[in-house]
Amino acid sequence: METVDYAGKVVVVTGGAGGLGFALCRKFVLAGAHVALLDLDRDATRSAANYLRASEKSKVLGIACDVTNPAACHQAMQAVIAEFGGIDLLINNAGIAHRSLLRDTDISVLHRVMDVNFFGAVHCTRAALPSICRRRGQIAAISSIAGFSPLFGRTGYSASKHALHGFFDSLRSEVEADGVGVSIICPAFIATGIERAALGGDGGPATLPRNAVGSEMSAADMADRIVDALRQRRRLYLPTLLAKAAWWTSRLAPAYFAWQMKRRVASR
Ligand code: NAD
Repeated sequence: METVDYAGKVVVVTGGAGGLGFALCRKFVLAGAHVALLDLDRDATRSAANYLRASEKSKVLGIACDVTNPAACHQAMQAVIAEFGGIDLLINNAGIAHRSLLRDTDISVLHRVMDVNFFGAVHCTRAALPSICRRRGQIAAISSIAGFSPLFGRTGYSASKHALHGFFDSLRSEVEADGVGVSIICPAFIATGIERAALGGDGGPATLPRNAVGSEMSAADMADRIVDALRQRRRLYLPTLLAKAAWWTSRLAPAYFAWQMKRRVASR
C-alpha cells in the first residue's frame, strides 16, 4: 500500500497549542513536515510554536485564530499559504466539550459547542480546500466515539461530532476525484485538558463529574496512531479496541450499546 511521506509537506492543525493537537504537531515536526498550528490564545500559540521550532529546527508557524470566525480562518489559511506555498493536510482538531443534561443546558452552550466543533471545521476546510485540491492533499476531522454513538450528558457534543461525519463523508464524495483524501478519526478517551475545560449547562465550568470508560490513552500515543492512519489515507479510523467495540456494538446492537454506555457513564 502506498503511504504518504510527510517530509517537506505542509500540515495545519487547529487547536494545536494543547492536548492532542500539540501532540500531533510534534509528530509531524519529527516527520519533517512544515507545521502551522492554529489556536485561540495568542500566548499559548506562540509558546507552542516556539517550543516545536526550538526542539526540531523545523519550520513552524503559530497563528492565533478562533475557528468560530470564518474571516479569521480564511486569513489564517492565506498566511499559511503565503509562508509555505500551500497546504497538504488540514487536521480539524479544535474542540470543546460540555457535561450537562439537556434539561439543565442553556441553548447558548449548545450553540458554542456546535460553533467550535462543527462550524470551526467547516470554516477551516472551506478556506483551505482550493489549496488542498491543487496539491491532491488530505483533510482530517477529529471526531469521537460520540460521533457515531450516543453519550450520556453530552447531547451537544455528540451532535457536533455526528455532524462532522455527515459533512466530511459528503465532502469526500465531492473531492475524491481530485485526489483529495478525507479521514474521520474517532478516538475514545485521551488524557488531555478537554474535560477540565468542559462547559456546564450554564456556560460556566462543568459540575457533573468526569466519567471516562476504560483507561485514557496519552495524547502522544494517540497521535502516533493517528499519524499512521493518515499516512494510509484511512477514511474512517477507530484507533483503539474500545473505539472498534463501540462502532460494531452500536451498529449491530444499538439498544444494548445504549444500555451499557448509560450504565457505565451515568453511574456516577
Ligand atoms: P484540549 O482541550 O486539550 O485541546 C483542544 C484545543 O482546542 C485547545 O488547545 C483549545 O485552546 C483549542 N480550541 C478550543 N476552542 C477553540 C477555538 N474556538 N478556536 C481555536 N482553537 C480552539 O482537548 P483535546 O482532548 O486535545 O481535544 C482535541 C480533539 O479531540 C477535540 O476535537 C476533541 O473533541 C477530540 N476528542 C478528545 C477526546 C478526549 O478524551 N480528550 C476523545 C475523543 C475526541
